[in-house]
Amino acid sequence: MPHTIVIGAGLAGLAAAVRLIDAGHRVTLIEATKAGGGRARSFVDPASGRELDNGQHLVMGCYRETLAFLRQIGVHDGIYFQRDLAIDMVKPGGKRAKLLCPPLPAPLHLAAGLLTMRGVGVLHKAAALRAGLLLSGEVRRPDDNETCDAWLRRLGQTAGIRAIFWEPLIWATLNDDPLVASAAMLMAVLERAFMSTRDASRLGVPRVPLSRLYVDQALAYSRDRGAVIHLGQPVRALRVADQAIAGVILKSGEQIDADQVISAVPPPALLDMLPGTWPNHPIFQDVARLGASPIINLWLVVDRAPFDDPFLGLVSSELHWLFNRSRIEGHSGGEALLNVTISAARASLEDSQEALVGLFNAEMRRYFPGRPYTIRHVKVIKEKRATISHAAGTYHRRPEAQSPLRGLYLAGDWVRTGLPATIESAVQSGHDAAAALLPPT
Ligand SMILES: Cc1cc2nc3c(=O)[nH]c(=O)nc-3n(C[C@H](O)[C@H](O)[C@H](O)COP(=O)(O)OP(=O)(O)OC[C@H]3O[C@@H](n4cnc5c(N)ncnc54)[C@H](O)[C@@H]3O)c2cc1C
Repeated sequence: MPHTIVIGAGLAGLAAAVRLIDAGHRVTLIEATKAGGGRARSFVDPASGRELDNGQHLVMGCYRETLAFLRQIGVHDGIYFQRDLAIDMVKPGGKRAKLLCPPLPAPLHLAAGLLTMRGVGVLHKAAALRAGLLLSGEVRRPDDNETCDAWLRRLGQTAGIRAIFWEPLIWATLNDDPLVASAAMLMAVLERAFMSTRDASRLGVPRVPLSRLYVDQALAYSRDRGAVIHLGQPVRALRVADQAIAGVILKSGEQIDADQVISAVPPPALLDMLPGTWPNHPIFQDVARLGASPIINLWLVVDRAPFDDPFLGLVSSELHWLFNRSRIEGHSGGEALLNVTISAARASLEDSQEALVGLFNAEMRRYFPGRPYTIRHVKVIKEKRATISHAAGTYHRRPEAQSPLRGLYLAGDWVRTGLPATIESAVQSGHDAAAALLPPT
């Protein structure tokens, strides 16, 4: 039985491990932290005693590989899915624009949703519809060198429809500013989410903390089927013999041999593990040039929520999305746990907790006037390298699953999956890496 080491127990590594175990491989999974989960994890916050995610994570109906992974590890009902895509966007003063897509086949459901959107002028709706018509005829993707901003201008999109539909979609799915982000990446999202099936565009919110949803069960599944799991043991270096991978060396000095290795760690960690002159290889030089984009999450326990919805977006605010976790978990009224997400938060990275809470309070007054509340706990989580940057012209730097070093396969949300760096990209990359080293069936 071939022995494969998977480095990293984030979603990519877990998905790869589960696939290989199912294919009969001997698997050793090695993770630097004590609990795994990487950028999609939860932990108990000592101050509030609550289990918090490192950041609110949404999924979509089009996350095929993710849903297959969850089914495989036996987590069937951990995500609450909308029946049809519905999003409320709030404007300053509290007025709303509501996107509600009726049960029609895609992409008609989106066209009808945009046409009947409340709180949006007819000119803006006409612009969105025009974009839809152009897209359904335009099979060719926009060039990766074109920014979302340039592409939206080319499609004649008005400021109104950009603020309510396009820009929230770009910040949320690409975690980058529309002025910078690649239109080709946006097109990948549009194709998967809005132009395939009606169910593909539905949003899903985890009902349980992230580690319970994605990580604990995957580790248990792997362990029960014979995988060896090392937690809290960082890999220091890859070991190479005769120009091929031979195993890994842990930080403790222990050496573990393997026939193949799947690296499922982020770019800087991979580059640190490469031995000899391998970091100079053009493919790894490209990896070194991938940028990063941060996300800030504020968790707040308040005596009562200033809004009644499970989640909503703010139009033209530095705070992009608001979630009422208590509502999502089925509690209503009384004390509430809120989450605020700031995507591509480069401008706020150095802000203190006090400044971020000040911003939250100012925005609540602006968007929900007359809804007073008292904050009881705050936890700010700044993920500086939440995702790679999807800046236009950078997709070619993302490597394929098969690396130039024989026996080394690459996984992670940042490899070349055709998708922006998301849960779905991570899980797909894990499945792709496993498929690349398994014999063809
Ligand atoms: C705040 C935030 C919000 C997000 N929101 C969404 C969302 O709403 N929807 C969505 O689809 N995606 C979202 N994402 C993106 C999603 O979390 C990531 O795409 C996904 O978790 C990446 O998984 P991964 O396995 O590729 O990498 P990681 O999760 O980074 O896993 C890599 C693992 O490798 C380990 N590791 C690193 N170095 C070593 C070493 N030397 N030895 C051993 N192990 C090592 C790390 O500890 C880690 O566990 C969000 C991300 C963040 C940070």
